[in-house]
Amino acid sequence: MYNITADYHTHTRFSHGKGSIEDNVLAARKKGLKKIAITDHGFAHIGFGIRFKDVDRMRQEVQRLEDKYTDIEILLGVEANLIGLDGTIDIPEEYIDKFDIILMGFHKGAVPKSFKEAIKLYAGNFLSGILPMDKKNIRLQNTQAMIRAIERYPIKIITHPGAKIDIDTRLLAQHAAKRGVALEINASHGFMTTEYVKIALREGVSFVINSDAHHPSKVGDFAKGIEIASAAGLNPDRIINASHA
Ligand SMILES: [Zn+2]
Ligand SMILES: [Zn+2]
Repeated sequence: MYNITADYHTHTRFSHGKGSIEDNVLAARKKGLKKIAITDHGFAHIGFGIRFKDVDRMRQEVQRLEDKYTDIEILLGVEANLIGLDGTIDIPEEYIDKFDIILMGFHKGAVPKSFKEAIKLYAGNFLSGILPMDKKNIRLQNTQAMIRAIERYPIKIITHPGAKIDIDTRLLAQHAAKRGVALEINASHGFMTTEYVKIALREGVSFVINSDAHHPSKVGDFAKGIEIASAAGLNPDRIINASHA
């Protein structure tokens, strides 16, 4: 049903993936992909965010591999972290242009912008399961933070919406559609779920199916994502990296 030709979300040892950039590229070629993005975690990720000094090395490696393997396009990307309620992500302004593609997601392991943001963004989200906090309010706050991020930065994909953070899928999809940002159906997490995809679909947004591979053997493994997309009745025209098989 779906012919997927690009994997826009893969990790390497530059964050906490298991392989090198070349390992991922080789795996992608083996699966017949025409495009791959290397998208390690943003700078604020504790323990395994990419290091500022590695960005130029990563670029050189991508360039070397682009010259070596002419049958595949390689993008240097990043999976940025949302770190502030004002939509701040963990990519400083002067680094934005160093990447070919920017993905953004919410992760628990990222250092927030400030203590105040930490309380709101993290405590709000993680204590809401334990304490009687206003879940509706927290959901709206999370969603607005993501919307601000896509309005401030040239973000192309929101990774695994709904995973690790409670969001208003309809509202996010409306704004993502307006900005031309794709919502990810993540083949590793199983997020978005079929139900979320159906809700977002009605808002006219685009989707992308990614592996989120943390090991080269998982690059181009879209099975779980395809399952979700087809269960939601998603037409390949709505998926930026797919066509009719
Ligand atoms: Zn992620
Ligand atoms: Zn990821």
